[in-house]
Amino acid sequence: MVNYYLLAGDAWRLHALRWNAETSMLKTLAAKHKSTVTKTAARYKATVETPHGPRTCFEARIPRTGKKDLVARFGGIPLQRNENGFIIDPVPVPVPTPRKELIHRLRTRRCELCEQDATVAVHQIAKLARLGTPGPNQPAWAALMTRKRRKTLVVCQPCHEAIHATPVTHAA
Ligand SMILES: [Zn+2]
Repeated sequence: MVNYYLLAGDAWRLHALRWNAETSMLKTLAAKHKSTVTKTAARYKATVETPHGPRTCFEARIPRTGKKDLVARFGGIPLQRNENGFIIDPVPVPVPTPRKELIHRLRTRRCELCEQDATVAVHQIAKLARLGTPGPNQPAWAALMTRKRRKTLVVCQPCHEAIHATPVTHAA
């Protein structure tokens, strides 16, 4: 994205996009690793050399003996106009869609709540926010969906009935 627009005179405007993407990435990583944004940022913070001087970035690095390190990096691209920039426009690769993933989860015919092999159905909610807040009052099924950050749960008939019998209660 940034490389694509570096030819523009106001490439600096991309800082808003970078901030949003960066915050989103850190929040996602923090949730996945059950940590905080501050700790996650500190853990992955790194510096990269650029033609405009060193820049802060976030990076995950796996050192390998006899081979180059495996590196996944976010940021570290100076948001300054590059008149000599060129656009690399690769053909988009199709990404596996969540729908495919759901079909796979359905095909395993295993209840994601009680983990029994059974005839399964999908319990679906409209918003993750409607799962309530984690705590003793949150039903087990809602806690599981919150933890997996999923709006769908593949469940057996008894679990599905139990889900509808124990709705999330919201504090007034
Ligand atoms: Zn079940």
